[in-house]
Amino acid sequence: MSTDFSRLVLPSLHKLLPYEPGKPIDELKRELGVEDVIKLASNENPLGPSDRVTQAIDSALPELARYPDGAGFRLKQKLAEHLKVKPAAITLGNGSNDVLELLARALLGPGTNAVVSAHAFVVYPLAVMAQAAELRTAPARDWGHDLDAMAALVDDHTRLVFIANPNNPTGTWLTLDRIDAFMACVPDHVIVILDEAYAEYVNKPGYGSGLELLGRYPNLVVARTFSKAYGLAALRVGYAVSDPTLADFLNRLRQPFNVNSLAMVAAEAALDDTEYLQRSVAANLAGMAQLEAGFERLNLDYIPSAGNFIAVAVPGRASELYGKLLAEGVIVRPVAGYGMPDHLRISIGLEDENRRFLETLERLLGDGVANGAAT
Ligand code: PMP
Repeated sequence: MSTDFSRLVLPSLHKLLPYEPGKPIDELKRELGVEDVIKLASNENPLGPSDRVTQAIDSALPELARYPDGAGFRLKQKLAEHLKVKPAAITLGNGSNDVLELLARALLGPGTNAVVSAHAFVVYPLAVMAQAAELRTAPARDWGHDLDAMAALVDDHTRLVFIANPNNPTGTWLTLDRIDAFMACVPDHVIVILDEAYAEYVNKPGYGSGLELLGRYPNLVVARTFSKAYGLAALRVGYAVSDPTLADFLNRLRQPFNVNSLAMVAAEAALDDTEYLQRSVAANLAGMAQLEAGFERLNLDYIPSAGNFIAVAVPGRASELYGKLLAEGVIVRPVAGYGMPDHLRISIGLEDENRRFLETLERLLGDGVANGAAT
């Protein structure tokens, strides 16, 4: 006798494809038998964690046998001060991924729909489809979110709209004015999730955090993470800021200890380490300029990005170049799954890493032309 799991699991799971993470460094080292591997594939912070964070983790180690503070009291207090919101407005998550999923679980089910943009972060469709809700995808404009096209897909059954600002993997961003205008025309049965995972990096004119709009629009939720500019991707800690009534519902749904103790003390220390944050942002801007200049020199189109990554066009050669870069110990991210088969996404690395990537890419592009592969 055997159990037919495909008949037993929820029908909505059949259409789900697993999230594909960037290839881990250790895996490539094992495969290639080389030590010298660089990873520019998961929008991580290339500086490594701040010293204050590692010290805070060290001092929390003696308490490892105890459960975390399930209410996240201290971190919420600190975040509330930092963001100038009430602690009751904050929902902590095991990464911001967790809060995105909690929102989908709280608000979506069969008979409802959610609106996303083409080329938007892939976790949104996954979260919607897992709830057996209808996914409505608006076409993009210049690779970015077209808020008019998204608004046109909203109807009585829409419960969620996901807006990534900036978006991953395109790096495109929206000004706060445009988000304000969008919120003004969205009916109040629609919850808008503004995903600001990369907000700390943005230095574009007119950009502003949706936190400024929360007082005026109770149906707005802002999601943030410690995985990027704060350098804590391994620990998994993020949060949502919302109307406290919605936060209360999310709190009922989450796992009792969804954020672990080390993640919470690390996040508190990271919030205090403004010097590290400034260094992260400065290194990112310098690395972004380095990659842009490299792409211009190589005559490659790229999508201007406000995040800690950039999508570059290598028409007809993305999957070939991805494989060849891997073979050279350089991990980048193919984005065909995002409807971008001609692009590769490169996370901004340290200066040496960016240089090695550009030099390797230049050599491989030249090889392709010599071999007649660049068609
Ligand atoms: N939102 C966006 C737009 C992202 O790119 C990511 C990470 N790749 C996340 C959310 C989730 O990050 P985390 O779960 O690490 O907070």
